[in-house]
Amino acid sequence: MDAISYQRATDVNSAIAAAQRPGAMFIGGGTNLLDLMKGGLTHPVTLVDITRIEALDKVETLPNGGLRIGALVRNSDAANHTLVRTRYPLLSQALLAGASPQLRNMATVGGNLMQRTRCPYFYDTAFTQCNKRAPGSGCAAIGGFNRMHAILGASAQCVAVNPSDMSVALAALDATVQVSGPRGARTIAFSAFHRLPGDRPDLDTTLQSGELITSVDLPPPIFSEHAHYLKVRDRASYAFALVSVASALQLDGHRVRTAHIALGGVAHRPWRASVAEQHLTGRTLSAAALREAAAAELAQAKPLDGNRFKVGLAQRAIVRATLLAAGGTGDFT
Ligand code: SF4
Repeated sequence: MDAISYQRATDVNSAIAAAQRPGAMFIGGGTNLLDLMKGGLTHPVTLVDITRIEALDKVETLPNGGLRIGALVRNSDAANHTLVRTRYPLLSQALLAGASPQLRNMATVGGNLMQRTRCPYFYDTAFTQCNKRAPGSGCAAIGGFNRMHAILGASAQCVAVNPSDMSVALAALDATVQVSGPRGARTIAFSAFHRLPGDRPDLDTTLQSGELITSVDLPPPIFSEHAHYLKVRDRASYAFALVSVASALQLDGHRVRTAHIALGGVAHRPWRASVAEQHLTGRTLSAAALREAAAAELAQAKPLDGNRFKVGLAQRAIVRATLLAAGGTGDFT
């Protein structure tokens, strides 16, 4: 059994100072970190408990009309907050599609961003080949059971996918991640927060050592009328996505003024479908136009033996999610 010291922080600065010790990690809801510790995948020397930092547990409007969601806001509270439900229904839908009610009550927004892949070979230390867990050891999933794995943006080192639903919506909404660290505060564009695996699959994000997520900021709402989160999974609840789609539109009648589409369950990070978005912008929305855009996006897919079905599934999910988005979010709130 590992000896672990515990320190409770009461503000951001003391949390960051405590985290500078070798082997220190922040703990919020702990819904993934404790799994990783129990599985022997993570061995913190010190746990810095940030759950008492009141400043990080707020939802507040920003001067530009956007919304700041503190890193400690629980997933349930974020999903059910009036401003999130009415102005960013896409985010509320995605949050409610994730995990179970019990986990959503415990998990925080910041922790959701930091959750690690659910690749079974990563969690089962009986498998010695996992470049994410043990760099240089190989990847058991590439020649193994890879039904749930990536079809876009993977590398010869790792084909894992990011498991978050919330992050798919945040990618479509062009959120930013606010962080503080020993060298001060900085803003990370959501598209730059999660990494593709490349030759460093052990790194999931671009967060630097000792940095703490303080909030997720949303730009002013422009997709509150036409947005939909569609999650396709093996059972109706408490299952990770085979494919998910966050689709958000601005429409002039039937013409697409702006389309933001992000995919989950297909890549090491939420996958912004920029090819499909370009195909749709300025066009009259129709099932045919959507099928064409989705096919163009998935033309770059490189499926594995066990997940070829995801290529067609992702295309059909883009079409369905975007048609539902076009139909409007009026009945959601
Ligand atoms: Fe490990 Fe990534 Fe391969 Fe899974 S896909 S076994 S996480 S290297």
